[in-house]
Amino acid sequence: MKFDHILIRFGEISTKGRNRKKFVDRLKRNIREVLADYPNLGYESTRDRLYLHLHDEDHEVIVKKLKSIFGIQSFSLAIKCESEITKIKESALEAIKSLYQPNDTFKVTAKRANKQFPLDTNELNYQIGSHILKNTDDLTVDVKTPTINLRVEVRSEATYLTCYDYKGAGGLPVGSSGKAMLLLSGGIDSPVAGYLSLKRGVELEVIHFFSPPYTSERAKQKVIDLTQELTAFGGSIKLHIVPFTIIQEKIQAQVPENYTMTSTRRMMLKIADKLRESRQALALITGESLGQVASQTLESMVAINDVTSTPILRPLITMDKTEIIEIAKKIGTHDISIRPFEDCCTIFTPANPKTKPKLQKVSRFESFVDFDELVDEAINNVETITVTKEQKDEFSNLF
Ligand code: ATP
Ligand code: MG
Repeated sequence: MKFDHILIRFGEISTKGRNRKKFVDRLKRNIREVLADYPNLGYESTRDRLYLHLHDEDHEVIVKKLKSIFGIQSFSLAIKCESEITKIKESALEAIKSLYQPNDTFKVTAKRANKQFPLDTNELNYQIGSHILKNTDDLTVDVKTPTINLRVEVRSEATYLTCYDYKGAGGLPVGSSGKAMLLLSGGIDSPVAGYLSLKRGVELEVIHFFSPPYTSERAKQKVIDLTQELTAFGGSIKLHIVPFTIIQEKIQAQVPENYTMTSTRRMMLKIADKLRESRQALALITGESLGQVASQTLESMVAINDVTSTPILRPLITMDKTEIIEIAKKIGTHDISIRPFEDCCTIFTPANPKTKPKLQKVSRFESFVDFDELVDEAINNVETITVTKEQKDEFSNLF
């Protein structure tokens, strides 16, 4: 027997009150994008769920793709039939027969959304269960821990039968929480910060600071590859590569060594914030984790954060490195992150960066250079790449 559709449950979105329609529309759009290679699929939504009609497409690949889409709580392969007891019994038997293995046990869990239906849930369970028992050989009922729980949902428009629930990715549909700019370095942390933001519905554009010849084309490719891994969760992502060499050299020449890192971070944030404004995004995202390195102390954050009042999301702020690595492995970014290519900050990292920099001091050191002009120049020379799942390097300069 073939499953004719997949029933998708929304979970958290269902509680979003007046915004629910917006969330559901967004989720539908995201699902369509991920499943664009399957034009035969049919989409039908009701208040709290989505029915994906398979129209003979192979359900296995589709199940695999659905698992990475945020905003889906769970989903099930399902059969739809008329809300009529003989039809329901036939379909239930067919579903079970196609699935069961020796020594399997089952139970029927009927639910009646349509209260006009002549049988109540107990009667439904009984009638369907005994029809299955009569027509199979070695299947027994186990109401506590069955291997197959056949769920039968009788609605007025139709009845839906499902045998197995797949866990969805949870979270909120990407794009439903607005857009933010992710500062992506090439290390382990920032891709994880990007993933967790996507999970809460944030649409991403990525910013990377690139300092040739101190950092190589291969380091850039690493960032493209990391961005590409993130596209699995929310579709294509714009990657802005900012030429950062001149600013880093200027900081190196003008700012006392133990303050160079504070200044570097401040310049990154200034540029990122300007790009954010021009791309109409609402926030910045970093992979910072409290106390992990000198630039990630609270004192450093005070000195660095001063350049903008834009919200900065730091999804990893309270996480331990081991927890971050675990997620990086799960989402497939870890092995890319540990490729041994230099990034612009490791090269310029001072031996003894200030762990408690003073805002007043760093502002004074920077006041001797016209950094604003350099910041504008860097922004004018940004290279923007649209990273999609398939094509890694389609260049387009948006500025
Ligand atoms: P990561 O593992 O993400 O590199 P990290 O622990 O090495 O983080 P830092 O190098 O101090 O920490 O960087 C802190 C954050 O600043 C990064 O998570 C990232 O968001 C941002 N950042 C650092 N370097 C760059 C860069 N070259 N381009 C873009 N963002 C950067
Ligand atoms: Mg780093």
